[in-house]
This record gives sequence, structure tokens and C-alpha cells, in this order.
Amino acid sequence: MNVGVLGGGQLARMLAQAGRPLGLKFMFLSPDPQACATPFGEHLCAGFDDEASLTRLAQWADVVTYEFENVPVRSVEFLERHVTVHPSSTALAVAGDRLIEKRRFRTLDIPTAEFLEVNSLQDLEAAVDAIGLPAILKTRTQGYDGKGQGVLRARRDLAPTWTALGGVPCILEALVPFEREVSIIAARSASGAKVFYPLSENHHRDGILRLSLSCVESGAQARAEALIGRLLNDLDYVGVLTLELFQRGDTLLANEIAPRVHNSGHWTIEGARTSQFENHLRAILGHSLGETTITHPSAMVNVVGTLPSGLEKAVPPCSTLHAYGKAERPGRKIGHLTLLCANCEDTAFRECLAHCLTLAQETELAERVRNEWTVS
Ligand code: AMP
Repeated sequence: MNVGVLGGGQLARMLAQAGRPLGLKFMFLSPDPQACATPFGEHLCAGFDDEASLTRLAQWADVVTYEFENVPVRSVEFLERHVTVHPSSTALAVAGDRLIEKRRFRTLDIPTAEFLEVNSLQDLEAAVDAIGLPAILKTRTQGYDGKGQGVLRARRDLAPTWTALGGVPCILEALVPFEREVSIIAARSASGAKVFYPLSENHHRDGILRLSLSCVESGAQARAEALIGRLLNDLDYVGVLTLELFQRGDTLLANEIAPRVHNSGHWTIEGARTSQFENHLRAILGHSLGETTITHPSAMVNVVGTLPSGLEKAVPPCSTLHAYGKAERPGRKIGHLTLLCANCEDTAFRECLAHCLTLAQETELAERVRNEWTVS
């Protein structure tokens, strides 16, 4: 079977790596001449709106998917007229616009932070009157890795933040004093079968994910599954879906969805019976879904910006390095480490995790792991 992918970054690359044992062939449409997925399939180097390339992809592929939510909805709608596409353009349209997304959450009784639509500086002032400060202003579209948003702490922040975001349509959200950020990843097949991964606990720095831990037992698991289950059914979703949540005590508030495999689920490659990448492929190809069970805690540490020299030699035996073959650039995700400590007690796991964080130059997080944490 032939799988077409819009995008050629590390998510496309890991999808293709998961597809090899399944005998799948891949074609990537990406405007980036250095797209890191290209060693694993054919590369159509063109814009996402290039009709000739979209047509070629549709003619070659049995199914098309995408690796990020900033591809034009119109391109996915175009593809849908010629080939099976999962997830659908409807899911993409919901996930690609924070206002539509948050409204959909509300319709489905999925709790969120308070939010209001903002289309002008006057709207922003009125929204701050209603929601209060601190709050967070986000562009409705095109935001990722903390880009396209700004925190408002005082009235004087309003005009500069509005201008810095480009005066584009936004939403204002109350700033949630969460205890932790978690995500739930699930897969749904066309027949409606669903599988759910254990929650990931996520840690960011400068808006970029740095560390995800699989939660072996979490009281929030069943509630998170119920929330994402509503979205999967409502969108008649096929493939892997991720829901990012803020947790405070027993309360879970939905932040956003990603209609795709997700960075917080990279640990599933080594840490779960079936990886998120394999389950996405199984779902979109109409295969049965694989088990999502884990037996031991695992963690994923992102390598961001530079691949420290000698990293390969320093990686501890319980860990696996994934290097994406991308050029180094500040703030760019260029690899990750996964830790599985099958025979370790929690203290050893923590020490190993702190070591991996140090290798990835996350020294502050490494210190916190050493000093404060217990693994959930
Ligand atoms: P997002 O692009 O919506 O995923 O936001 C990036 C990061 O900003 C999140 O992972 C949170 O750490 C933080 N953030 C976003 N929205 C809120 C909010 N309403 N309250 C508190 N923190 C937030």
C-alpha cells in the first residue's frame, strides 16, 4: 500500500519508519528541500497548495495523511475529492483555528479555560474586562511551539502584545494556574474502534516541549479518555488524535487538539506495545488497532537546537537516541531520547532521566528531577 503524507518533517519520518515492517511505501509533499523524511520515501518538493503535486500524490497514494495542522484546509479538501484522506478536512479545520476548536469543546461539554474572541484592540480591552488578568492572547491560526501568543499580566501589556501578534484575529484565554500539563493520545478506526495511550505528563521551556513522562497509573486517565472519546466520535475521526490538557486537582481543562501523531507520544515507540505511529497507520489503512499497554515507566527528552557532540556515546544503556537528520538551529527539535528502565527502581529511573536531561542540555529540569520528583 502507498501512503502519501503532507509534510516531510520528523513526524512524517517516524511514520515512514513505522510503516517499513508493514511493507508500506511513502511519498511526502513538502516545500522544504531538506525535508528529513526523504530517506524513507519519495519527496515531492512543492508548496502544499501546488495542485499538480497534490494531484500526483492523490494518484499515487492509497491513503493520504498529514503531519501538522498548519497545512491549508483547501489542499486537504482538494485531495479528498480524489483519494481517501485521514484525518478529514473537518478535523483539520477544527484543530487549525483556536476559536472553532474551543467552541467545539464547549459544544461537547469538554471544560476549557474561559475564552473570548478578539478581533481588535477594543475587543481585547473588553475581553480583559470580562476575563481579568493574567490572561493569554493567542492568534487563532498558525501558532506552534509557543509562537503566536503572549501573556498579559497588566493593562499596559495589551497594546504591545496585540501589535506584536500582528493585529490578526485572536482569542483571549484566562491563564490557568495548572499543576501539570498532560496529553492523551488515542486512535480510532473507521469502524469506530478506539484505543487510548496512558497519559503523558509534559514539561515545556520557552514554549517548547522538553520532557514527556508516561503516567503508569493516573486517576485522571478515565476522565481524559472520556473527553477525547467525545471528540473522536463527534469528528467521526480516523487516525491518531492528541488532546492537550491542564490538570489542577481533579479538574482537567482542554487546551488544544492535534489531529496527528504528537511529540508527547514519542515514548510509545519503545515504551508501548504498539507505537502511536504504527497505530496511526493501522487506523488510516483500515487495519485492526494495536494494543497500547505499557509495563514500565518511560520518558522522552527532546534534543532541541544542537546535537551535543559525543551524545551517541554518552547515551545510557536504558535509553535510545533518535536523531532526525535535521540541520541544527536554535529552538528546532532535532532529535529525542527515550528511556525505558524495565529493571530499575524509581530512584534509578530518576537518576537515568536526569542524566539524559543533562545530555540534552536541560540542566534546570535535570536538577528538578534529581531533587524534587517522584515518578507517577
Ligand atoms: P499552546 O500553543 O496553546 O499549546 O500553548 C503553549 C503553552 O503555553 C502550553 O503548553 C502552556 O504551557 C501555556 N499555555 C497555553 N494556554 C494557557 C492557558 N490558558 N493558561 C496557562 N498556560 C497556558
